[in-house]
Amino acid sequence: RAKCEGGSGFSFYKPVMNERVLETLELEGALRLAVERHEFCLHYQPKVDLTSGRIVGCEALLRWRHPQRGLVAPAEFIPLAEETGLIVPIGAWALKEACRQTRAWVSEGLPPVSIAVNISARQFRKGDLPQLVREVIQESGIDPRLLMLELTESILMTNPLGAVSVMETLKTFGVGLSLDDFGTGYSSLAYLSRYPFDQLKIDRSFVNDIVTDSNSATIATSIIALAQRMGLRTVAEGVETEAQLGYLRKNGCDEMQGYLVSRPLAAGDFARFLRENNGVTNICALDKDQFR
Ligand code: C2E
Ligand code: MG
Ligand code: MG
Ligand code: MG
Repeated sequence: RAKCEGGSGFSFYKPVMNERVLETLELEGALRLAVERHEFCLHYQPKVDLTSGRIVGCEALLRWRHPQRGLVAPAEFIPLAEETGLIVPIGAWALKEACRQTRAWVSEGLPPVSIAVNISARQFRKGDLPQLVREVIQESGIDPRLLMLELTESILMTNPLGAVSVMETLKTFGVGLSLDDFGTGYSSLAYLSRYPFDQLKIDRSFVNDIVTDSNSATIATSIIALAQRMGLRTVAEGVETEAQLGYLRKNGCDEMQGYLVSRPLAAGDFARFLRENNGVTNICALDKDQFR
């Protein structure tokens, strides 16, 4: 009934709100077409072992090459993709592409590195994730041990038992499971022991303040100690300074990711980075001067 009132169907909306609704609709429409139009690409950020300095893997991070807006960061479209369910086909594309690229690098003779792919809660809950993962591994022909799936705590919240069973199925394929952004969600420590994770990623917010804020430092070191006891590897995300690196190494963190070593790189640039450095970064040298 409201629709027919007066001349303008939406007269009770404020113009500003109208604009926002329109923009969201426009974005959704564009997002819907983006997969078919091949507008997505992945950038790859090195993961470095803190003991050897070796590049042991990378994380695949989604980018949208929008025809008008240019390169769009995930923060600007993943929430809407989640909401609309479009994250399911987009996420499937990302998983396929990451494995295809990994296979291509191996074929080119690059040192084999593991590849981490982010899985959204919605994608995880959809039910056929194990089937998709199995197909993608078969199609690409990669060693499943090279594939790491990054899950967030939100996955564990809604259906803990279901999550365990999906994760256990995934583990039988040989893929690794990583708990992303650890410390930002609600998971209790007890949770951790119930899920078959291999790796725990310390959220960037703690890493960022690790040398300036004693609470963040305490949280980070507790996470590392806990993970060690549970036999999980720890990865610090968002390491930007040598001081942060030194603190993390001193406290037994296993791996790092961050601008200190490299920003996420386009596929060709990542391959060059790997080749030029012969798979090893200079972070151990950096650290020696400052902290030994
Ligand atoms: P995330 O999985 O926690 O990824 C790490 C984010 O931190 C990336 O942002 C990365 O570029 C950024 N980062 C890494 N090192 C540094 C650093 O030293 N300093 C700073 N300031 N930032 C750093 P990005 O690429 O914008 O991705 C944001 C989030 O979007 C990701 O967070 C992830 O949750 C989501 N995302 C990205 N790709 C995918 C995907 O394919 N599927 C799904 N479901 N989510 C994705
Ligand atoms: Mg991640
Ligand atoms: Mg993360
Ligand atoms: Mg994060």
